[in-house]
Amino acid sequence: MVLGIRRVDVATCCVLLAVANSHAQQRLNWSADDRKRVESLVKGGSRIEGTHVILYFPPSLPRVDAEVLVKRLDPAVEGLWRQVGVHDWQAVPKGKITYYLHDDAFVAHASGRSAVFVPMARVKDGRAPFLHEATHELLASKRSRMSAAVGSATPGRYPLWLTEGLADYVARVVANQLGIIEEGPFGPRTLSEADALCAERARTPDGARMLPFIGANAAPDVLFTTDRARFAPTFYSCSLSFTKHLAEHIGLHALINLFSLTPTDLVARMDPVAGRPLPVIVTEWRTRLGVHESR
Ligand SMILES: [Zn+2]
Repeated sequence: MVLGIRRVDVATCCVLLAVANSHAQQRLNWSADDRKRVESLVKGGSRIEGTHVILYFPPSLPRVDAEVLVKRLDPAVEGLWRQVGVHDWQAVPKGKITYYLHDDAFVAHASGRSAVFVPMARVKDGRAPFLHEATHELLASKRSRMSAAVGSATPGRYPLWLTEGLADYVARVVANQLGIIEEGPFGPRTLSEADALCAERARTPDGARMLPFIGANAAPDVLFTTDRARFAPTFYSCSLSFTKHLAEHIGLHALINLFSLTPTDLVARMDPVAGRPLPVIVTEWRTRLGVHESR
């Protein structure tokens, strides 16, 4: 069945609806053309169905390469389900994840509807976040939708450092289990390189501007503008580094289970789940990495 993109799910990666922006930066809306992308792939692309994934791809990807990709993604998505588990709060039912690879230039993203979108440029440069985006699908929570429905004009969102950091973390845990590498657009190649990469970037002037958002409830607006390329590498690698720090202290499953809560409840429960106030853990993590906010 062709995927119908009816709405943007607030639980998933990289999606904020457009709002007026007075700066020279322009808002990015990378999912706006998803319906058109699906239609063009169904019409002019090809499809391979694996055990755990369905891959749609354009003529620019040779079929033999697509077949190799499906063979690589099938056990990886199976591994993601095994790692994340099956829960009553998941918006995406246990089943196949559909990958739409498209020639458009856009930011790879998830949909919250068992489907992810990846630009061919990333497939070709070897930095496609295949597992990262699929993890967003597995972590998409019905509770996020509930709070969006109940809430005011601004729907509740989970902290961005957690949704992005956890997607990066789970992706690399599973990649490591399978002996594959998912570097993604921003790195690192493996979990063991995450702290050093974050620290190196956080010491740059642009990078230092991202640090206050790691462990905080606010998301850096610049990530959703044409300035994304300046700031996203630090935000993502440091979100991963901090998520890894938390996972090492309280366990991955405690972090995953947070998505059984609404965004508001998740923020309220974070300190008890972590066993200490989150700002204390943030300070501990920054000290370990030797990084500090710019003043
Ligand atoms: Zn993401």
